[in-house]
Amino acid sequence: MTDVAIPFDNTYARLPDRFFARVDPTPVAAPALIALNRDLARRLRLDPDRLAGPEGIAVLAGNRVPAGAAPLAAAYAGHQFGQPVPQLGDGRAILLGEVTDRDGVRRDIQLKGSGPTPFSRSGDGRAALGPVLREYVVSEAMAALGIPTTRALAAVSTGETVRRERPLPGAVLTRVASSHVRVGTFQFFAFRRDPEALRELADYVIARHYPEAAAQEQPYRALLAGVIARQADLVARWLLVGFIHGVMNTDNMSVAGETIDYGPCAFLDAYDPAAVLSAIDQLGRYAYANQPRIAHWNLTRLAETLVPLLATEADEAVAVAQDALAAFAPRFEEAYQAGLRGKLGLLTAREEDVALGQDLLDRMAANRADFTLTFRDLAAAAADPSAHAAVRARFDDPAAYDAWATRWTARLAGEPGEPGARREAMRAVNPAYIPRNHRVEAVIEAAIGGDLGPFHELLAVLARPYQDQPAHARYAEPPAEHERVRRTFC
Ligand code: AMP
Ligand code: MG
Ligand code: MG
Repeated sequence: MTDVAIPFDNTYARLPDRFFARVDPTPVAAPALIALNRDLARRLRLDPDRLAGPEGIAVLAGNRVPAGAAPLAAAYAGHQFGQPVPQLGDGRAILLGEVTDRDGVRRDIQLKGSGPTPFSRSGDGRAALGPVLREYVVSEAMAALGIPTTRALAAVSTGETVRRERPLPGAVLTRVASSHVRVGTFQFFAFRRDPEALRELADYVIARHYPEAAAQEQPYRALLAGVIARQADLVARWLLVGFIHGVMNTDNMSVAGETIDYGPCAFLDAYDPAAVLSAIDQLGRYAYANQPRIAHWNLTRLAETLVPLLATEADEAVAVAQDALAAFAPRFEEAYQAGLRGKLGLLTAREEDVALGQDLLDRMAANRADFTLTFRDLAAAAADPSAHAAVRARFDDPAAYDAWATRWTARLAGEPGEPGARREAMRAVNPAYIPRNHRVEAVIEAAIGGDLGPFHELLAVLARPYQDQPAHARYAEPPAEHERVRRTFC
């Protein structure tokens, strides 16, 4: 049998001991491969055939620690639903190590659901099949949509049962991330009043994610500004595809600016800015439209941890932090409005465009218009007046669309470019296929029942979200009333 050769080069494991606990994955009874992301494997310079073989599956299940790995559970803290928790940490995830991908980018390879760690406390360190498949499908869909995200390299079933509300099959996800450093990682050392570790962590994050900051006169200020900018852009991207993270605790916010920790996440069907699906978000803190405000709140927590590094005078440091945070709202607004203009087919920017976009969204909300398909159908209407019929049919009261469409048509008349080119540009930013909540739930239920076919079919469809796939048109459709998912669980 040939060994899986993984060219590890582990930098996090070389940080001081108090950054993590060294711990090996706990072997599972009967590992079997559910899914392997062959394209991603190749991008990571791994051999997919070996990963799919017995030795590879043993690695992906945590039954075998490959040569060069330095398994560890990272320490972090966080604010959960606004409440400080001084110690969380990887309670069911173990970092195997880092590799450099074909683009020269360092990537973490992490097993999630790989057994207890010193941070598990009461948890079992395991993951159920459902959440593993949800993270696999949704993170890969986000990647295909072009949104910064962690990736899924593989999922294996464990042959073991995990006890949740009901006994469920267990699974392990292999997650790939630019890193797993979170806002909560900085908070861990701030809570412990460990300025030395904070500086080391900041230096590490600069070197790994913000190398341009190192050349600045004030690298830590540049680091803070960089994280703020990436998060502003990221949350704008979420809103533009109707994504609701569901549990934006500070321990679930990456300082690299990737979407991370897919738990009770969801996508809008009908446009509803107040939408909350997460079963654990009882107060609606993480509602769809609240996400920019929450990102700013989380970044404020990050800024607080960095204050000692921003200036020698405390007053000056606080002022610097406040200035940096003040950049969030305009940066978000710029990214969001630029994205919305693109969704409307506008190449130029005019002052009135903000109101035009908002008016459409207000009418969609009042008329329960499907977020994804309204914009997808608008693309066709940009080139063919008879295609307005499909868009208006998305509205409870189709006349609500007509009044807006008149304004939009007039606005488009002042735009450069041919209608056909505009339609194509709109189709390239308005997806046909998103991971609809009811589709995700259905593939999970089928998988629990032993049928992985629907999971693989959904994955394949979501890999090409901007292309029409006539044979799979049903995947674009919103749920029938009885299919609608009202609550998502992690
Ligand atoms: P999450 O809600 O997934 O972001 O996790 C919050 C915290 O709970 C993290 O420290 C996790 O490692 C920990 N955790 C979640 N599920 C488990 C589990 N099954 N066993 C141990 N720790 C867990
Ligand atoms: Mg340690
Ligand atoms: Mg988490």
